[in-house]
Amino acid sequence: MNFSQETAQHLTAIIQAQRPAWTINGIMKALQALAHSHTPGQALDQALNAAKDQQAKTPAAIIFDQYRHQNRATKPGTQPACEDHEGETAHNCRCCIADEKLGQRPREARGKHHDPGDPK
Ligand SMILES: [Zn+2]
Repeated sequence: MNFSQETAQHLTAIIQAQRPAWTINGIMKALQALAHSHTPGQALDQALNAAKDQQAKTPAAIIFDQYRHQNRATKPGTQPACEDHEGETAHNCRCCIADEKLGQRPREARGKHHDPGDPK
């Protein structure tokens, strides 16, 4: 299990806010099915993707693979990918931006391979 029952309850509240018609029990069951293979963030992403899809009639859809990694940053072929962070686009990689804020990556290295130990 990557997350607890308590975490699943918190996620359920968020998902139910997105799709009030979905039952708490149904959402909880789907999240529990994801708990062994997903982090809380991955489960939330996937569940929200399902919840936003009006074709998804029941919360059971949360477990469908088609809702996995449907991140707007990862549409294939539209943007170059970050060289350091899988699933992020080079120009607005969230991991690189976080590194920049921490002073561990210069702005010009966003989306490019950067070794913080490299003096250049
Ligand atoms: Zn990056």
